Amino acid sequence: MAEQIRVRFAPAPTGYMHIGNLHTALFNWLFARQQGGAMVLRIEDTDELRSTPEALGVVYDGLRWLGLDWDEGPNVGGPYRPYVQSERLEIYQAYVQKLVDAGRAYECFCTPEELEEQRQLMRARGVPPRYDGRCRDLTEEDKQRRREEGRESCTRFRVKETGNTIINDIIQGEVTYDNALIGDPVIVKTSGYPTYHLAVVVDDHLMEITHVIRAVEHLPNTQIHLQLQQALDIEPPRYAHLPLILGEDRTKLSKRHGAVAVTDYAAQGFLPEAMFNFLALLGWSPGSEEEILSRQQILERFSLEACGSSPSVFDVAKAEWMNGEYVNRADPQYLADWVLPILQEADLMEAEPSHQRQQWLVAVVELMQSRVKLLSTFTTWARYFFTDDFEYENRARREWLNDAQTPPKLTALANRLEALSAWTPDTIEGTVRGLADELGLSAAKVIHPCRAAVTGTTIGPSLFHLMALIDQSAVVGRLRRAADLSAASELQPSGDEESQ
Ligand code: GLU
Repeated sequence: MAEQIRVRFAPAPTGYMHIGNLHTALFNWLFARQQGGAMVLRIEDTDELRSTPEALGVVYDGLRWLGLDWDEGPNVGGPYRPYVQSERLEIYQAYVQKLVDAGRAYECFCTPEELEEQRQLMRARGVPPRYDGRCRDLTEEDKQRRREEGRESCTRFRVKETGNTIINDIIQGEVTYDNALIGDPVIVKTSGYPTYHLAVVVDDHLMEITHVIRAVEHLPNTQIHLQLQQALDIEPPRYAHLPLILGEDRTKLSKRHGAVAVTDYAAQGFLPEAMFNFLALLGWSPGSEEEILSRQQILERFSLEACGSSPSVFDVAKAEWMNGEYVNRADPQYLADWVLPILQEADLMEAEPSHQRQQWLVAVVELMQSRVKLLSTFTTWARYFFTDDFEYENRARREWLNDAQTPPKLTALANRLEALSAWTPDTIEGTVRGLADELGLSAAKVIHPCRAAVTGTTIGPSLFHLMALIDQSAVVGRLRRAADLSAASELQPSGDEESQ
């Protein structure tokens, strides 16, 4: 029988999900789904940060946003439950005992101050700091004395002092670590909680994980995990360490680069399918120049072997371009469903729009979608659909609104539009062109100032169509307002015009 592939995504629930975590989840998911394997969600809360329902919710939401499902996990159960490490403490205890009995784990009484001193000394000697092993061979008496001194103890794993640990990584290839360079890691903290190293090894074993796919930052940890597995007589899973994701300055992607939380990208109006496509191409290549690939195409072509080991850069402009491609092709009704909460968050749409208002939003989206990359654009550049409260861009001021001929044109246009009994692109167009004819002007000489007055911008979709989507009375009001402001010289270009 073919091996049942089992992978796991194992986030620490910090109440925040970095886009790099989602990338790891995606690659696990792709591999599992393509191989007909199982995707396990395991919550690694052995850190001081305890798991809260909110923090779990952030993990679930992030995965669901990208459309990644899981077969086993805290909320869906499964044969290897519990899937939250803080609920598995007794399980780890048995493995610690096994290590202690085999002489591979020992009590360490060093205080944080002593450890810091050790580190300083090593640095001063020019060697990489590590635990110096001073509690390795304490006698029972030594231990007793320390306990009487009121010292707390943790448990450390006794690593090998000689030889190498070799990792055969599916993505990174063969990586060799010198055993002499690492100190004995803590496996049980003074609090009695296991550390990540112990918990991850035990759980990957008990949950029968076949492939550990995680970020390359964990590669140095893997030498410890391999040693632990050997000491516990556990067969190691196969490892695939995904390449680093860098910001545009080629340092590791972090909060310094701006938005990195999954929720930030959703709030900016990235579509999940665009992010899926974009993240899949960070570290994996379909073997061709194609960039727009559907979920299905990616699933069909994905392989761990085709993942590269060199870091990839999170190119924001490319991500936005890709999102634009998806926005451009999307069904307007579907897009409107994503745009609505973004507008509501910005107080530009009511909490419970009527069916009619929703249909109106679909029409706005349809008119704009070929020009929009991020859906948040609807709250900035295209906010004029939703409110009279928008800025007049400098270019609109300079080219059209700061012109003595503009106020009378806008006023005349307002009067005529106000009198229209039908508010459609055709009637609006007829009115605008009719006025231009009467004034002996090219249509452009009326269209441009009109656009500037109604939208505050100089570019956008068909003016007549966009005006038809805004209330007649609002359009008339905007034309009069711009006429008044312009006549009062209040629409002069401002300040650092060149930068606009
Ligand atoms: N809890 C670890 C993290 O969030 C998971 C590492 C692993 O996949 O082994 O980085």
